[in-house]
Amino acid sequence: MEDINCIFCKIANGEIPSKTLYEDEQFRVILDLNPATRGHALILPKKHHQNLYDLPEETAAQVMKLAKKMTARITEKLNCTGFNLVQNNGEDAGQTVFHFHLHLIPRYKEDGQTLGWNPVEITGEDLEKIKNIIAE
Ligand code: 5GP
Ligand code: ZN
Repeated sequence: MEDINCIFCKIANGEIPSKTLYEDEQFRVILDLNPATRGHALILPKKHHQNLYDLPEETAAQVMKLAKKMTARITEKLNCTGFNLVQNNGEDAGQTVFHFHLHLIPRYKEDGQTLGWNPVEITGEDLEKIKNIIAE
């Protein structure tokens, strides 16, 4: 279940030390080495899954339950005033480590970070076409 070339496999399974906030049989939650904000953490499954496409449904559900627990704890301990959950899949989406991970990014008033996207104009007709492609 471990990819020998994967750094997050080694971190998740304790072969490489990390700043661990939480650990159980299936997951390790660590501090990001280059944080966006104070307390930026990553949820890592111990088993290797490249990204969300590969993640078993049950693990995906457990990840979100753990995210809820960890965001509550980090909020209580660090007094952040908001949270972004970010999860990148594929190089074009900004994924740089190809072992599934969920970013937990505490937010603070005027913390200098801008997470987001540039909204583009789209016609109602194009929205309808896209809706039909996806929903059919
Ligand atoms: P991605 O761009 O794949 O969504 O995010 C990868 C994240 O992993 C980045 O935020 C980066 O700072 C973090 N990261 C990369 N290598 C290490 C490491 O060895 N240890 C820790 N704790 N974080 C890492
Ligand atoms: Zn891995």
